[in-house]
Amino acid sequence: MIPVFKVAMAPDAPERVAEVIRSGRLEHGPRADALEAELGRRIGNSRVATVNCATSGLHLALYLLVGRDPYRHDPSPERDEVLTTPLTFEGTNWPILGNGLKIRWVDTDPATLNIDLDDLERRISPRTRAIVIVHWLGFPVDLRKLDAVLDRAERRIGFRPPVVEDCAQAWGATFGGKPLGNHGNTAVYSLQTIKLLTAGGGGLMVFPEAELHRRALRTRWLGIDRADDRARGEYVVPEWGFRFPMNELNAEIGAANLEIVDDLLARHRANAHHYDKELQDVPGLAHTARPDDREPTFWAYPVKVEDRPGFMRRLGEAGIETSIIVRRNDEHPAVAAAREPLPGLDSVAGRVCYLPVGWWLTDEQRAHIIDTVRAGW
Ligand SMILES: *Cc1c(COP(=O)(O)O)cnc(C)c1O
Repeated sequence: MIPVFKVAMAPDAPERVAEVIRSGRLEHGPRADALEAELGRRIGNSRVATVNCATSGLHLALYLLVGRDPYRHDPSPERDEVLTTPLTFEGTNWPILGNGLKIRWVDTDPATLNIDLDDLERRISPRTRAIVIVHWLGFPVDLRKLDAVLDRAERRIGFRPPVVEDCAQAWGATFGGKPLGNHGNTAVYSLQTIKLLTAGGGGLMVFPEAELHRRALRTRWLGIDRADDRARGEYVVPEWGFRFPMNELNAEIGAANLEIVDDLLARHRANAHHYDKELQDVPGLAHTARPDDREPTFWAYPVKVEDRPGFMRRLGEAGIETSIIVRRNDEHPAVAAAREPLPGLDSVAGRVCYLPVGWWLTDEQRAHIIDTVRAGW
């Protein structure tokens, strides 16, 4: 079976990790700091913080921006909703609930599979505490239009809800020529096992300004400053925090894989462009949008097909795995209370599916996938 996902691992990663294990320094060491600095350089923003996974990063981002603290006065308790997309991995959305806030679903744009920014604008209200967007499959949300939506919202409701960008699938993506994490919002990348850049588990938070960054570096580890002298009890916790640091083993895996990731990403993109060209005009198959103001990563390749079960069965018979990747999050019983009509999502949810597009495809496999899809199902 040609898989939809495969774990990318640099050949020298095992030996490098063995070295870390032998060193005895497994946590709170120089490797996570070095990886953090290097990832910041690549993104072009040095206000970065490694964490143990993107879900932790999203949790901490929301906490820093709008979190509730039982000992701190909440100036706007009526602002209890976070607007977000249901077409994503659950790791995007459960941190909202973990911060004691309510989910308010925003519809999906059937053209991009990202959050529908017109529907977002309609749903922004005095109850909106924050907004979470996802660059689904590494296809960047239109951040220029989002800014315009927020400008208008600010004039209408008197404040500008902060935005968290879930860049979990978007390592290498750009919008307006700049890597994600440089557009005025707090962004979170994932270095989870099947993400393009993997640390075998990990995440990276990216901040738009220094104060949030400073708070993150402390609150990711219980509010303690690592530089303080704990041996002599000489440390204080000005703001309590979480237990989210990246360990040295993951950092070393991430550093090893950082050396191969550019080549992998180039393969994803080349394969996707090839599909774009070769899968034009296939009856019963529609593509997502491809505007040229952004560079997606194609973590997976989306198609919208008629008779999805038949499509998936036919490709499976030809040795090609396809996947739906996620359930729409709004259908989970855990969040039944947040259900709302979402006609845009309804119109695509039963048609979307994802093809293998990654660096592991040989030219023969890629041709086989194209021939199989073109032959019909
Ligand atoms: C993978 C993923 C996450 C969670 O990442 P972790 O690092 O495993 O916590 C969150 N959101 C999206 C869109 C993802 O794909």
